[in-house]
Amino acid sequence: MIRGHRTAWAAGALIAVLVAGCAGEDPAPAPAPPATPSSAGQAAPTTPAAPAPLAGRVVVLDPGHQLGNARFAAQINRPVDAGGFAKACNTTGTASDRGYPEATFAWEVAVEVRRRLRRLGARVRMTREDNTADAWGPCIDERGRLGNPGRPGPTAEVRVSIHADGNRSPSAHGFHVIEPGDLAGWTDDVRAASGRLAVAVRDALVDAGFAPSTYLGENGIDVRTDLGTLNHSDVPVVMAELGNMRHADDAAVMASEAGRRRYARALTTAIRAFLAG
Ligand code: ZN
Repeated sequence: MIRGHRTAWAAGALIAVLVAGCAGEDPAPAPAPPATPSSAGQAAPTTPAAPAPLAGRVVVLDPGHQLGNARFAAQINRPVDAGGFAKACNTTGTASDRGYPEATFAWEVAVEVRRRLRRLGARVRMTREDNTADAWGPCIDERGRLGNPGRPGPTAEVRVSIHADGNRSPSAHGFHVIEPGDLAGWTDDVRAASGRLAVAVRDALVDAGFAPSTYLGENGIDVRTDLGTLNHSDVPVVMAELGNMRHADDAAVMASEAGRRRYARALTTAIRAFLAG
C-alpha cells in the first residue's frame, strides 16, 4: 500500500517529467552559485563546498514490474525481443504470503536509492515513474535500453534492476545478484564490468547483514542469458533479487521500512563503489 504523501510525490515527479518532455529523465541539478570572493581585510575567506561525489554521473534504476501488470494480461504477454529470442513483455512479479507485492517493494526501494543517489549529486533515470494498479510495463526490452548510448536522454554508466524472488521451497531464502552471461553480440560489451558490479552489489548486501541465497547462484551471484533487461543493456547491469518474498523471514524484512532502507543503503553503497572503480 502506498501512503498518500508518496502518491502525491510521485504525481509531482510525473508532472516534472512531462514538463521535461523525456520519460524517466531526472532533471539536471541546478548549478551551484559561484563562491563570493572575499575582500582583503575582511573576515575569514569562504571555503568553496566540495563537489558532490557523484556529480555528473548518471544511473538507471529499474524497479521490476508495474503494480498493474496483472490487469493488463494482453499487453504483458505480448512477445518482445529479449536478446535474439522472444519473451513476454513482462510478468506480474511475485508477492509475500501476506500480500505485499514485489512491484511495490521494488518501487519503494528504488525511490529510496534514488533519494540517496541524488543527495550524492547523481542523476537518476527510472524505467517507470510510478507504482500504480492502473498501469503496466514497461516491457523488458525498454527497461534494458533506457540510458543506453545513442538512446534519448542522458547516457547512463550503470543500470541496477531491483526485484524480489518468489520461491515456495521452505529452505529457500536470501538474495542473489544476476549478472549477464555470454550471449554473443548482446552482452560482450558489458559482461566484464557487469561482473564487477555484481560483486560490488553482493559485497554491499553482505556488509549490510543480508544473507546470500541458499538456493540459487554461487555466493550470492548467478549468471543468466535469458533475461531481456540484462541482454539489452549496453551499460554495466545487474538484476538484484533482494530476497525470497515467499520466505517469512525475508518477507518480514522487505515489508518493513527499516528493512527497505537497509537494502537501499546497500545498493547505494554498491553503485558508488562501482562508479569509483
Ligand atoms: Zn521480479
